[in-house]
Amino acid sequence: MNVLFVASEMAPFAKTGGLADVLAALPAYLHRAGHDARVVLPLYDTVDTNKATFQAIMDFEVALGAHRYACKIFRVGAAPPVYFVHCPALYGRGRLYTSEPDEHRRFLALSFAALMICQRLDFAPDIIHCHDWQASLLPMIVKTLVAKDPRFARTRSLLTIHNLMYQGSFPVEIGPDTNLGAVSHLFHQDLMKAGRVNFLLQGILYADGVSTVSPTYAREIQGEKLGGGLDGFLRARSATVVGILNGVDYDEWSPETDKHIPHTYSAQNLAGKERDKQHLLTSLGLPYVPGVPVLGIVSRLVSQKGFKLLDPVMFELLRKHGFQLVVLGSGEPALEAMFSQLQRQFPRQVCFYEGFKNDLAHMIEAGADMFVMPSIYEPCGLNQLYSLRYGTVPIVHRTGGLADTVKQWNPRTGNGTGFAFDHHDGAGLRWAIEAALTAYRDPKQWNRLIQNGMAEDFSWNAQGKLYELVYSKLANAGRH
Ligand code: ADP
Repeated sequence: MNVLFVASEMAPFAKTGGLADVLAALPAYLHRAGHDARVVLPLYDTVDTNKATFQAIMDFEVALGAHRYACKIFRVGAAPPVYFVHCPALYGRGRLYTSEPDEHRRFLALSFAALMICQRLDFAPDIIHCHDWQASLLPMIVKTLVAKDPRFARTRSLLTIHNLMYQGSFPVEIGPDTNLGAVSHLFHQDLMKAGRVNFLLQGILYADGVSTVSPTYAREIQGEKLGGGLDGFLRARSATVVGILNGVDYDEWSPETDKHIPHTYSAQNLAGKERDKQHLLTSLGLPYVPGVPVLGIVSRLVSQKGFKLLDPVMFELLRKHGFQLVVLGSGEPALEAMFSQLQRQFPRQVCFYEGFKNDLAHMIEAGADMFVMPSIYEPCGLNQLYSLRYGTVPIVHRTGGLADTVKQWNPRTGNGTGFAFDHHDGAGLRWAIEAALTAYRDPKQWNRLIQNGMAEDFSWNAQGKLYELVYSKLANAGRH
């Protein structure tokens, strides 16, 4: 199959979250499986062009209403090829996303450029795989503006929602920039009357298929609580809404081969894990005391991640149980202040490292005993998957991808891989942490838990096959 990916992130070139990892892994998997997968990405000024060879292959102008953008297309790699859209007027902002008044045009240009690249290369996609609101008008455009182009006659679109809370909602005045004025009746009319255009909603309405990044999140976004105001539209299309978990790049995240940790280890021989723990603590200036459990956190510090729950529960638990806590992250000042305060109150137990630091993320996964993710909602989540592989027992709120990947430990049966609390409140979190601490005190139980987690497999080989299935279903079905 010919599959065209249109997205705003791809590791290692441009990354703010899990979307980038999906783009790094899924097209590569499809290529290995014999498909012709290609990716179209903005050439942000933050992309490190020394990371690969950028070959200029074509120039064209993209017109968005009265706006004209000169674009140069660079190709990187061949297996699969990535086409970067170079347009400094749009992508020279020092960051991936902005709240500037032309934000919609930055990604509309990407969408139109993607179609023009197909036309110039005579590439007829069977599937256009659109990611998030940034590519959400493509399904409509394919069905209208390029409908007569035979290259798109068989094209089906799949919209993947990585986080429903980012919808691309703009004032209705941007309408002419979409080039869709002739079919403006296809925009949601009540919303238009209210003065808004919502890109993600248009994608949900017109994509041939809709997916998200875990089965539980796929269900949750069809309910009012996590539906972001779009749950009714998602329910109306529930027959086509599927959830496919993100896979893990085990070349990057395996304790047997990890280049970022001082001591590698395996499920059969965990000696290196204890040494990594000692290294982690001493390098952060905390004392290492054998038998004292270490809890880890690596996260963007935003309200979605649920860390508010830690205040005041973590204070009480640190005092009562004497464990240690290592936190890596940055984000909202109130959350940073909370972790800084914990560090001041418990200087021998808590270290808060403010920032984004990939090698420290690896060291925490390896050196911690438990990993805490109290997310309010979590479309998929990657860190709990890394934790399982590193024998670091996840403590999570039972939501989205966390619910799908962490199985509650049952000391009677010896089944389970972690601790999951149902109610997002302090009592829930306290229960889960204390249950984990109880299990930790029994080395036999703890080893079983670690072994169960390390045996789990969330590789892209398994997840990629599920996408192939969705693609072929879409290709064989009529258009939506
Ligand atoms: P989200 O995409 O919502 O941020 P995920 O769990 O899906 O959450 O993915 C987060 C990714 O970003 C993981 O690979 C994680 O290790 C990484 N990450 C998050 N914060 C940091 C940080 N401060 N330093 C290093 N890596 C981080």
